[in-house]
Amino acid sequence: MIWNEARECMSRDELMTLQGERLVQLVKKVYHSVAYYRKKMQKEGLEPGDIRRIEDLSKLPFTTSEDLIQNGPFEFLAVPQSEIIRYHSSNATTGTELIIGCTRDDIEIWAECVARCIYMAGLGRNDTIQIAHNYGLFTGGLGAHYGAEKIGAAVVPSSTCSTDRLIKIMKEIHVTGIMCTPSYLLHIAKAIRNVREVGNLKLRAAICGMEIWPEKMRKEIEEMLGICTHDVYGLSEFAGLGVACDCEYHKGLHVQEDFFAAEVLRKNSNILVKDGEKGELVFTTLQREGTPLLRYRTGDIAALTREQCGCGRTTARIDLFGSKTNDTIVIRGVSVFRLQLESMFAGINDVHARYLMRIYRTAGLDMVDVMVGLDETQELLLAQEKDFVKIKVTAAVRNLIGVTPNVLFANTEEIARMARGVSTVVDERSYR
Ligand SMILES: [Zn+2]
Repeated sequence: MIWNEARECMSRDELMTLQGERLVQLVKKVYHSVAYYRKKMQKEGLEPGDIRRIEDLSKLPFTTSEDLIQNGPFEFLAVPQSEIIRYHSSNATTGTELIIGCTRDDIEIWAECVARCIYMAGLGRNDTIQIAHNYGLFTGGLGAHYGAEKIGAAVVPSSTCSTDRLIKIMKEIHVTGIMCTPSYLLHIAKAIRNVREVGNLKLRAAICGMEIWPEKMRKEIEEMLGICTHDVYGLSEFAGLGVACDCEYHKGLHVQEDFFAAEVLRKNSNILVKDGEKGELVFTTLQREGTPLLRYRTGDIAALTREQCGCGRTTARIDLFGSKTNDTIVIRGVSVFRLQLESMFAGINDVHARYLMRIYRTAGLDMVDVMVGLDETQELLLAQEKDFVKIKVTAAVRNLIGVTPNVLFANTEEIARMARGVSTVVDERSYR
């Protein structure tokens, strides 16, 4: 099933012509309305007239998350504030808010991208799709919701409600598709199996993303629920999920290239790699109005292929390698990505708490504390079960990094204070 055949299956030549036309318009716009880009282009002796086709993309300056954070949300706005109809934000790795503004057309394009992804997963207007992403500043819930409504599916905006309730609704109204983070789906799958409800469900496909998702985890979910799963890619900086998704062939994620021009750079350099080679993924938002971004360095490691896919789509595909260029932590010689740690904590069943991992060094040896933050209600509920929680957290950490942590309990305010704005990991070794 292809949602927008005219765009998703156009010839590569036509697509490059379209990308070129959009790039020319984009560069004119940001040059005249975003002082940040005008200054950067002037510094490199570039004028809008120097950009005439998509091949000229490589002449343009890069943008990084640090640029967005340091300059603030208004510096990158390419339209008057009155045209912004929504702001979204993500907690960047450093804990700083990264805010983007969306116009009405930006929201429409976002819905279009998600609609294409939903069709890639084989879901359509006759399906009932449960959105179990968090609704709010995070760019998962609302994006998924608008996309599902656009295709005419029946949408169930359950967000991240209690798992029991979510499963009950899933069963009662014959939900056939679900969109959420993979770690949350794994949690749901385990809960469904515990109550022996798998056979009573109509669920047949899931679209998951916004966090690292190893192949092993995908298989585990598919086997537990007897469904197909699809990986969706997106960054809050581009208004969230829907930038790319994998079709039924699962040979990489199709990029919505009429909206996002993709490049891959050799790691820690500005040199483009050949198709099929790994490097840092870079995107230019060809049609964004509110916060357009030129050559945004995502930090994600990926390889790009432009070979046509068996599904008939001609758009380039990305293979994601689940890593960031700058986001690795090494603990006693074992490399681990921050997002892997976050996924691990998200995947600990039955214990919904705020977690904080503190890494420090004693007598030259890396040590790990895990703080489990509980609010007053949880304190009461878990008073009898703290040993059980300790065993569970210890096992999860040991499995991932091979280190036995000290597990400590604290209230959520204490955890927030210790986190100093960082989401999950405080690495104190770098401060000594
Ligand atoms: Zn395909």
